[in-house]
Amino acid sequence: MKRTRARTRTGAGTAATSRATLVRAKLLLTSAGAKGVANGAVLVQDGRIKAVGARAPLERAAKGASVIDLPNATLMPGMINLHAHLDSLCGPDFLMQAIVISEANAVMVCVDSARRTLHAGVTTVRDLGTKYAAAIAVRDAINNGWTTGPRILSAGQLVCMTGGHGWFIAEEADGADEMRKKVRKNLKRGADCIKVIATGGVLTPGVEVGSPQLDPDELEIAVREAHKASKRVAAHAIGNQGIKNALRAGVDTIEHGCYLDDEAIKLFKKTGATYVPTLCAPHFLYAHLDEVPDYARRKTTEVYEAHRASFKRALRAGVPIVAGTDAGTPFNRHELYATELALMVALGMSTEQALEAATSGAARAAGLAAQTGSLEEGMAADLVALDGDPRKDINATMRVRGVMTRGLWTTPS
Ligand SMILES: [Zn+2]
Repeated sequence: MKRTRARTRTGAGTAATSRATLVRAKLLLTSAGAKGVANGAVLVQDGRIKAVGARAPLERAAKGASVIDLPNATLMPGMINLHAHLDSLCGPDFLMQAIVISEANAVMVCVDSARRTLHAGVTTVRDLGTKYAAAIAVRDAINNGWTTGPRILSAGQLVCMTGGHGWFIAEEADGADEMRKKVRKNLKRGADCIKVIATGGVLTPGVEVGSPQLDPDELEIAVREAHKASKRVAAHAIGNQGIKNALRAGVDTIEHGCYLDDEAIKLFKKTGATYVPTLCAPHFLYAHLDEVPDYARRKTTEVYEAHRASFKRALRAGVPIVAGTDAGTPFNRHELYATELALMVALGMSTEQALEAATSGAARAAGLAAQTGSLEEGMAADLVALDGDPRKDINATMRVRGVMTRGLWTTPS
């Protein structure tokens, strides 16, 4: 791995003014929908974009800057994964792996997953639940310059009902008072968002995906507490009733959403919630059915087609759909992010829509649209260099030649 420090950091995380860096590429896409700029460039200083556009005028303005030359690459905004579990090794048995991991190991796995995530061209990752809230510590380590990785938004520990989906990595809460306490506990330790469990899930034995779990009043109190603190709420929701409970409670994103009907679509429209389908999760389970526990095999087979149909229904209806992979689930490795975009395109999205789902759309859903998701003056220097034009071939997003996260350039090994 080659790294170039395009900005200077101190241990306290304050950046001194550094030498500017000019990144030059064959093709520049400033946003998913923008017209491409041939021979484009981005001028970066102190972790931010100073100027962006055609190469020639930027070169004149950037006298003395160090140069990163990518004569065959396409430069576009860094991508965003809105659903990951950074403390997971992505092995076949999610439950056993979570039960045996130590707190110290969880931190180190998060560091490694963050590096893998970054090498996939992902400059922002939303962690929706680690067993010991380890992603919060790793987020801070990255922000302080102690290790390299993407911007992390962390939910801390997810919140489920007693025995609910993911109980082995969760805070369990029953009733409004306990929910209030658990949400506040996550906020106290520094969570950027809150994750709640509205239905059963595939990777927990003894629960059914169609069953509603947290009750409407519990979901409502979670949303109220999070929104009071200006934090967003993501709801794991597979079955239809739980999806509707979560949407009526006012959650900001529905994760998985495998059983959408017309009423659920109407609720998306009414509430303005965003859909994070996590197509990768069943995709990789389905590809390894023989290797996962029996209960996971049965439930994967159960949801697979309904999930794909729900995606198409939401797409047709114009529900905002953004990219999150659920990386950390079996065989769904952190470096395989771009598979989500390929699956979206295979199910009917245009390449431009998939790129928006991966950049500005996801930034909006996470409340980061003023910081990342497009290449504009003043925004964070989050960029990715790809081999090929992803508008013509979405698989170009799998061929990452370099990535810059808040001004720090890394070449995947
Ligand atoms: Zn998940």
